[in-house]
Amino acid sequence: MSLETLPKELRHLRACLLCSLVKTVDQFEMDGCENCEDILHIKNNRDSVYDYTSANFDGIIALTSPEDSWVAKWQRIDKFTKGCYAVSVSGKLPNGIIRELKSRGYFYKSRDTSSTNK
Ligand SMILES: [Zn+2]
Repeated sequence: MSLETLPKELRHLRACLLCSLVKTVDQFEMDGCENCEDILHIKNNRDSVYDYTSANFDGIIALTSPEDSWVAKWQRIDKFTKGCYAVSVSGKLPNGIIRELKSRGYFYKSRDTSSTNK
């Protein structure tokens, strides 16, 4: 397991709004999001960290072997980097980035499972 993507402390944890990867604010600022950096450009930009990640999330899954994990398939994160992922993330990406995702052929689905159940 790649240790760099694991949260180094339990305080200040945030989950990426796009892929649910859980790391500390500092880790997001230093390394960006391993899955979404191409799109979100979080690295070295604390404002983006706060825009594109949420401190309000539920449950953490440790993803150690994405290729054959049923959890990963259930969460549709089998293509993602190893690390910790939130089960549900509250919050929404800014509309501007959602438009950019669409223009690049990505389909953004909110990870906030509490609102999809309505
Ligand atoms: Zn991400």
